Amino acid sequence: MPRPFELDVLFRALTTLAGVGPKNAKLFEKLTGGSKILDLLFHKPVDFVDRRYMPKLKDAPNGKICTLEVRTEKHTPAPRRGLPYRVKGTDGTGSIDIIFFHANKGWIEKQLPIGEVRLISGKVEHYQGQAQMAHPDIIAKPDERESIQIVEPIYPMTAGLSHKIMRKALGSALGLIPELPEWQDASYKAKNKWPDWHEAMKALHTPESEKELEPSHPVRQRLAYDEFLANQLALALVRLKQRKKNGRSWQGPRALHQKLKSVLPFELTGAQKNALEEIDVDMKSPLKMLRLLQGDVGSGKTIVAAFAMMNVLECGAQAAIMAPTEILARQHAESFAPWLEALGITYITLTGRNKGKERDKILEQIKSGEAQVVIGTHALFQDDIAFKDLGLAVIDEQHRFGVHQRLQLSQKGKGTDVLVMTATPIPRTLTLTAYGDMEVSRLDEKPPGRKPVDTRLLPKEKIEEMTQAVARKIENGARVYWVCPLVEESEKLDLEAAEERYDVLKERFGDQVGLVHGRMKANEKDEVMANFAQGKLKILVSTTVIEVGVNVPEATVMIIEQAERFGLSQLHQLRGRVGRGAAKSFCFLVYASKLTETAKERLRIMRETEDGFVIAEKDLELRGGGEILGVRQSGLPTFKLADIEKHGELLAAARDDTKLILQKDENLTSERGQALKILLYLFEQDQGIKMLEAG
Ligand code: ADP
Ligand code: MG
Repeated sequence: MPRPFELDVLFRALTTLAGVGPKNAKLFEKLTGGSKILDLLFHKPVDFVDRRYMPKLKDAPNGKICTLEVRTEKHTPAPRRGLPYRVKGTDGTGSIDIIFFHANKGWIEKQLPIGEVRLISGKVEHYQGQAQMAHPDIIAKPDERESIQIVEPIYPMTAGLSHKIMRKALGSALGLIPELPEWQDASYKAKNKWPDWHEAMKALHTPESEKELEPSHPVRQRLAYDEFLANQLALALVRLKQRKKNGRSWQGPRALHQKLKSVLPFELTGAQKNALEEIDVDMKSPLKMLRLLQGDVGSGKTIVAAFAMMNVLECGAQAAIMAPTEILARQHAESFAPWLEALGITYITLTGRNKGKERDKILEQIKSGEAQVVIGTHALFQDDIAFKDLGLAVIDEQHRFGVHQRLQLSQKGKGTDVLVMTATPIPRTLTLTAYGDMEVSRLDEKPPGRKPVDTRLLPKEKIEEMTQAVARKIENGARVYWVCPLVEESEKLDLEAAEERYDVLKERFGDQVGLVHGRMKANEKDEVMANFAQGKLKILVSTTVIEVGVNVPEATVMIIEQAERFGLSQLHQLRGRVGRGAAKSFCFLVYASKLTETAKERLRIMRETEDGFVIAEKDLELRGGGEILGVRQSGLPTFKLADIEKHGELLAAARDDTKLILQKDENLTSERGQALKILLYLFEQDQGIKMLEAG
């Protein structure tokens, strides 16, 4: 199904707009993340300047944006450096000093010729009884009045781009917005008093009051709802179509379950039992399972996955488990090994590192069914990998994969059940946007005997004292993670900070210190991690890229520098690296000495709770969805028009709407269905569209 032609114009490159050359197009792309006209149209203004107000000089109030009509009386060039160039203007009722710092004399003379009348627009300020305007935003001829006496939207900007260019590009882009068939339910739209889509898009870029900038304004609501609806509809389509493909009903004698239980050194927690019951119901049913197992770090997801695997293994089928990184895949293999071996189950690992003959051999074992369990990375869904009979695909730390990859692995088998595990304790609203295609089981209870991590806040001036304490702990056998500040959104700078810290620590602790960062090759990274796990290294300095899920029970100290720069969820993830063994663990959150109240409040939450869900909700509350560092990095969907925090109710409504839509018209063939297809294209929900094509 090709993209509906009505949308073509929005998908053209920005360079097709008059006045946008390749250079500006690059800047727009940097700003909006895309190079299409639509990307620019989805860039929301955050404020506006009202230039309609045109008082006489005697009435121009202090501190207000005004557009003034003045005659230039006199130029007074800057008497010396550091002082401004002054131009005196009058309008018969009063006078104003128009001032310029570091300005070019010739340019000013041309802009404001003596004796001529000009329109100037900018902020008026009263200084010792004299009206002033520093660097007018606009200087224009009187006949240009109509084009400047307007309300100008203000956008988030990027260096090198001016509002003038922005307005010009948007001006042309707005003229291209097509009228599209309505995809919203007519009565819902009427009830909310929402405008049509094309009207809403235009109104978005022409705010004239504070109200119009608020998330609760009908224009913003309508557009947010559209975006949520596209997201929910695509996920629901994936789910519906996946589920319709026949799943299989796994009903074995459960002998393996009994055996596995008998080799476990512990009892399952209540939460684990509940999750397993839900999983068993899914797997027994002839429908395909698509379930998310959400549980904080250390909540015991692995064993739940192992039990789920037994369902298919005892029916003679295979199970696969996929982790996002090499290290994690190997670690899974290690944790599964004792259980699988005790049960006489054969398993194999496959990652990007297996090459040539070795890889061929592994592939053969997967194909023949000799390998009952396959543990690996995304190497598992390469085209040439065929399973004899893949019954269950377990995907760990899913947030690093996408819907698309989730599908890819499950398509390696017929009616393969899918269990996704994630340790990111995302709030419920976000769960809906990312996993709306799945049922959710939550492990909200930790295995008994966990010691809380002693979390302390520490100003950076105390780093030396802390280092001394760390030295003592190391002498007693402790291992330490040392996470370096996120300086900027630049890997290079992050790295420099980490390297600096590494050098300092190296001087003091010598070969006991290692460094990992995102720019290292996978095998170099693995080696350092392995040395840390084995205790050859005592301190592991890293940028923020400590592998999620890495398990080194001997590590009992986590130090995070400039902790205030991290999202709470990310701090939580990092802290979850310690407190895994029998010894008491510590987490030091080192902060810059000047913290705002909110920043302090955030860090205090870390000290108060270790409940990932509480932390995630707070994080969302205090910073907003798109801002959560951990979330942005985790690849959860981000929204352009919707604000996940402020529009949460709309998301729930979009989900309900989606249910009704698909109940009535699952192939989207009705009139509204056709319009909804356009909506899917508009928000590039390709997965959803593919599902419709597949029928
Ligand atoms: P995660 O949810 O982070 O993947 P794991 O499955 O790795 O957590 O479990 C963390 C640790 O807790 C492992 O050492 C595991 O053996 C142990 N564990 C899991 N379930 C229980 C339980 N019910 N009682 C005691 N220990 C458990
Ligand atoms: Mg895990």
